[in-house]
Amino acid sequence: EVVIGILALQGAFVEHQAMVQRLSLKRKIAVVQVRTVEDLNRCDALIIPGGESTTIAVLARVSGLLEPLREFVRRKPVWGTCAGAILLSESIEGSKKGGQDLLGGVSVAIARNGWGSQVESFEVDLAVQDLRNPEAPFTGIFIRAPVVLDLHPSPEDPPIQVIARLPTNLLPPSLASMDDNDPKTVVALRQGSHFLTTFHPELTHDNRFHDYFVRECVLPAAAKTT
Ligand code: GLN
Repeated sequence: EVVIGILALQGAFVEHQAMVQRLSLKRKIAVVQVRTVEDLNRCDALIIPGGESTTIAVLARVSGLLEPLREFVRRKPVWGTCAGAILLSESIEGSKKGGQDLLGGVSVAIARNGWGSQVESFEVDLAVQDLRNPEAPFTGIFIRAPVVLDLHPSPEDPPIQVIARLPTNLLPPSLASMDDNDPKTVVALRQGSHFLTTFHPELTHDNRFHDYFVRECVLPAAAKTT
């Protein structure tokens, strides 16, 4: 049995749990909500939900989870959605060292609430080749989403694979000036067994991103350790 934890300090953890439970896989998957170090120690992989990254970081610190989470990220598959993606980034634009606590693990710089107050939230259809049934678009739900500013893997890091970009022709008008290679159009990426989406797949009824994470990141890593 493979155990997937959902960090359950704040945010959309119940929705993620339901999505993972609905996957039909040959291997048995157990899903647990993670609030303590004991919960975390049971897990083979972790999902960090959307919510408020500052709140999640503060709650992680007071519950003694911050260092164990950093250690977990170094060893095991982790997927961060929205606020979770912020926590997995190496750096946040504008935040000084000693500001917001991050877990790190993915070689990107990110901006919180990077779409600005004019476009707080939006939905766009994303074309994602790596998903099951790739001809069906995936509805990307962006809520005060972060923006990837820069991808900077060093030679000893696993390479970064871009999994989804915002189609520039569908960008909200105030953002329409970006070109297709702008890192800011990257909304899903993978580095080794780490996965980052700036939108909320758990708020749809479409579990193809959950399927992707489990098949591509979690099960291969679990197969190596068992
Ligand atoms: N803006 C939030 C943050 O900075 C993220 C929003 C979300 O997870 N939907 O943490």
